[in-house]
Amino acid sequence: MSGEPDARNQSTDWGYSEVPPEAPMGRAAAGNKVECNACPVLCQISEGRTGACDRYGNFQGVLTRVDPVVLFQKVTTASGAVTEFLDGEAWNGDVVTDTPVFLSGVGSGTTYPDYKPAPFIVSSRHEGVDMVTVVTEGIFSYCSFKIKIDTDRWLGPEQATVRSKGEAVGHVTTAEYGSQMLSLGGVHHLTGGSKKEGRVTCDLMMALGNKQAVEVQIEGGAALTIQAGAAPIVNGVEERRMRVGCGSATIGIFAQQWFGHVDEVVVVDDHITGILTEHQAGRCLDMPPSGIKIKGRKSTPGRYFQVANPGTGWGGTDITDPLSIVTGFDPKIAKPGQRILMVSTTGEDAAYFVLDENLRPVPAAMPVPVRKVVDRIGENCEPALTTVLFLAGAGGSLRAGVTDNPVRLTRSIKDLLVAVTCGGAPTYVWPGGGITVMVDVARMPENAFGWVPTPAIVAPIEFTMRLADYGALGGHMERMRTVEDILKNERVRLVSWDGLNPWPVGVGERREARG
Ligand code: SF4
Repeated sequence: MSGEPDARNQSTDWGYSEVPPEAPMGRAAAGNKVECNACPVLCQISEGRTGACDRYGNFQGVLTRVDPVVLFQKVTTASGAVTEFLDGEAWNGDVVTDTPVFLSGVGSGTTYPDYKPAPFIVSSRHEGVDMVTVVTEGIFSYCSFKIKIDTDRWLGPEQATVRSKGEAVGHVTTAEYGSQMLSLGGVHHLTGGSKKEGRVTCDLMMALGNKQAVEVQIEGGAALTIQAGAAPIVNGVEERRMRVGCGSATIGIFAQQWFGHVDEVVVVDDHITGILTEHQAGRCLDMPPSGIKIKGRKSTPGRYFQVANPGTGWGGTDITDPLSIVTGFDPKIAKPGQRILMVSTTGEDAAYFVLDENLRPVPAAMPVPVRKVVDRIGENCEPALTTVLFLAGAGGSLRAGVTDNPVRLTRSIKDLLVAVTCGGAPTYVWPGGGITVMVDVARMPENAFGWVPTPAIVAPIEFTMRLADYGALGGHMERMRTVEDILKNERVRLVSWDGLNPWPVGVGERREARG
């Protein structure tokens, strides 16, 4: 992030000497240093250097945001120039009815203390309606990352501490269907422990937000490498498949396809191990019981809990030999020659047995029709991925930067009058008090996250609403600028809108959809 920034256009109303007092200012400090007031750290920055966070630098005695602000362009012209849209030359749409660019919070800077308006308050039009977007880089102490790791393998006990470089940075939280979940970062680790714990936590969080791979160790559990959008690596082994379902679901899904080819199927799963002939699916097919007996606690017919310990073996258990969970066959029911399939919930592990005269399962070559269904289990598994969601609560400067009456902003967001995006990506706003947002970092631009040494995480956030609503909630109307003004007078980095995210300015439709 650090480095010499491009020369800013100084020939405008917004040149260095006329930076409005609400924007971060480089107050003269000792020698040729300037003081950055964009966050509580108040770095004293020497000429040609950047501050502690690398976001602001002293360039020719002027405090400057190092990175340009990211501007998304919705439509691409042959030359890629936004000004062509604005001049109406190459873009055949109408800028009067729809502004084809969106200013994101990435690189926008921060204002501090709280009462100062946000760095950018930008007017635009969407389908003929006057809109406004308030853009900033928020500094978040109350924030964390929720990590979904698509694997059945046991990563560690629930509530176990997750460590990075030996420091506690989070914990294992409730497992979900086919996925193990971590909660990493958060105010407790950022500010409630030692200085080192806070720094390591902050580094880890920034890397996760910026879609980099990080290594963590779970106490009493696995070593992981995780990265947004990439397959998780568990104890050095890349996970490939997310299970098709629990053992019971797998029995239910594939029962008909097994029917006639086997006399029993056991789907080994750490959660629910399924037994076909006992299961309702087998009964509906009139399959006679096989007499198999397995370890574990019977939940309901054909569904067993705790057949083994959790682990990185078959179906998220610790077994590598499937017969280790079979305690025997009832001689009153079982018959020599019975065909038994044992398979995991991903189809990665499978074994086929035939009962001998003494009702002992003997390994045998798997018949083609049975192999076909095992392969189909694998085919129905989705690729195992790591998903990284950023969860944060908007604090003082974020809300006061939008309006001098912050509770109206909160209410307007809940009333769907205001769209909240992070780097242009859609967010989920939690119900209840405050502005607690959650966003998938994979949908955000590259290097959207930063940090300050308080320590806290810096993340882009934008609030978009109708101009009339902004006025009604007490917005800083006098600070509003046009896109044209920003294009002329600010250093911007143009990024093509990828189209996977909804265009953030469509807030009017949200309200109308709600009725
Ligand atoms: S940490 Fe960054 S934002 Fe904070 S005062 Fe230093 S340079 Fe400015």
